[in-house]
Amino acid sequence: MTYVLITGASSGIGLAMCHKFASEGHNLIIVARSEDKLNTLKSELESQFHIDVMVKVVDLSTFGAAQQLYDQCAEYEIEVLINNAGFGDFSNVWDMSLDKAEQMLDLNIKALTTLSLNYVRDYRNKAATLINVSSIGGYKMFPTAVTYCATKFYVSAFTEGVAEDLRIGQKPMRAKVLAPAATATDFFNQAYTNAGLESDTSIDRSQYTPASVLATYTYQLFQSEHIVGHVDGEGQLMLQPPMFDYVHATV
Ligand code: NAP
Repeated sequence: MTYVLITGASSGIGLAMCHKFASEGHNLIIVARSEDKLNTLKSELESQFHIDVMVKVVDLSTFGAAQQLYDQCAEYEIEVLINNAGFGDFSNVWDMSLDKAEQMLDLNIKALTTLSLNYVRDYRNKAATLINVSSIGGYKMFPTAVTYCATKFYVSAFTEGVAEDLRIGQKPMRAKVLAPAATATDFFNQAYTNAGLESDTSIDRSQYTPASVLATYTYQLFQSEHIVGHVDGEGQLMLQPPMFDYVHATV
């Protein structure tokens, strides 16, 4: 029996991915901090799709948590690992809380790296897929989101590099980057709250891409031979080769 492990499964894009992968018949390991939401999701998906869902309640921003999670999952065969959990903060750089910045680095970068490196080490010779969720802000800087975008630049560059190393090493495993543009989730409210601000109600967010569409795009990326799934300003998926330069020379 194989499983798709999805972090940040309790809401937004991760929740929609759970529904999509479950509807395609995949068993799931769902990860987030909100135990009640995960248990409700488990019941829903198991009864609707007749799959197996394992719940892992973890705060991935805490020291050692990502490694513990990976070790706890050693008994399961993980066909796909999706590092989706992440958050933003819309503070000006000079107002950014250092505690929040550290927590962001711990979740968006450190936990993702720990899970990715363990997974690549153990599954590189299998038909396994690593999907890391970056952002349009993982290829462009946006004002009041500099630290967040920098974490996502890391996610994009790291994952593209892993993908290229696997290709050059002729490994069957694949690594992919999903780079969503604005998506209708709680991300924006959270990012304003983290900055100590009220959400900007003058912005019309009704046109943002639904999370369910992002989940469909994720599945398309999973099934494709492409490395990067980039969502443009119109909400269209563009499947692309790596976007960062990779120097094909020994250093
Ligand atoms: P969301 O609705 O706020 O979902 C974030 C998910 O991450 C939740 O399930 C949350 O669950 C989980 N999470 C947060 N902190 C965590 C922690 N410390 N440990 C474990 N899980 C944690 O936001 P979203 O839009 O779906 O975001 C998903 C990913 O997409 C993020 O990486 C985000 O950067 C990226 N993204 C979003 C957009 C957008 O416009 N929405 C655009 C580009 C990229 P709990 O609170 O239960 O832990």
